[in-house]
Amino acid sequence: ATPTALMVGTGRGAQLGILLKGPEVLESTRRVDTIVLDKTGTVTSGDMSVSTVTVAGGQDESQVLAWAAAVEAGSEHPIGRAVIAAGRDHVTEKARDFVSTQGAGVAATVGDKRVQVLSPGKVTVPLPGDLADAVSTAESGGATAVVVLVGDVNDAASEPVAVGVIAVADRIKPSSAEAIAEFRRLGLTPKLLTGDNEGAARAVAAEVGIDDVTAGVSPQRKLEVIAELQAQGHVVAMVGDGINDAAALAQADLGLAMGTGTDVAMAASDLTVVSGDLRVVADAIRLARRTLGTIK
Ligand code: ADP
Ligand code: MG
Repeated sequence: ATPTALMVGTGRGAQLGILLKGPEVLESTRRVDTIVLDKTGTVTSGDMSVSTVTVAGGQDESQVLAWAAAVEAGSEHPIGRAVIAAGRDHVTEKARDFVSTQGAGVAATVGDKRVQVLSPGKVTVPLPGDLADAVSTAESGGATAVVVLVGDVNDAASEPVAVGVIAVADRIKPSSAEAIAEFRRLGLTPKLLTGDNEGAARAVAAEVGIDDVTAGVSPQRKLEVIAELQAQGHVVAMVGDGINDAAALAQADLGLAMGTGTDVAMAASDLTVVSGDLRVVADAIRLARRTLGTIK
């Protein structure tokens, strides 16, 4: 490939709304045969909002939302933003000692309570029946449920108690199904890879035309899934937007970040799609093939 032809490709890329780390990225773009997509913020808008709040017996809904929103104030995650929007007006006390565990949830101290907002899969204490029901109802409907747990900071020996379940949902981007059909036309096999629950993942995958789904994975596991595909001989593109995608984006032969996502994801990627529209990813692959096809 001549540098001039590659620079043309890069310039066209900028016009399409693609930022390349360097012209050599075009070469890996051309060879890709598998495209792995994160769900939240990549296939879906990532603009989540709270759909239902279910509280355990004796708990107050405003209080549960206030605890959760105070804790999520430290989070950049779409779930956190949804919880903040719903609970902000109830918050009276700032949280301290915030901790975020990627792919699991968040925790912080609010007053004399240690509050956690966690993925149901990471909850180790038993859930009362109505909260367990709220989780399965949310997940089978394609939503994401998080559990709010509260413990006493002054009593390290006490177990935290589940006080509520918050269901959040977001919308599939209108362009996603078309983009995935376009990937197939380009000969790429699409795969959905998400930290979210199986129910939500399957619902989204069915709607956009993806058959291959891996759900409930940690950021480290996302990286391993990419490495396993590579070990099978595939050249893998990964598209993501979150901090939780960074390791997988770096592992992929071609890492693509949504410009609407986190800086960490963009830093770990070879290519950034400024608009967050997945159809532009297909454009980028077509452009790379055409540009390099004319050089030789
Ligand atoms: P995705 O791959 O869909 O972007 P993540 O890996 O970011 O998902 O998150 C996986 C799961 O971890 C979420 O579905 C949620 O249960 C939990 N989680 C992550 N961040 C938060 C947060 N800020 N608050 C509550 N739960 C969270
Ligand atoms: Mg994401």
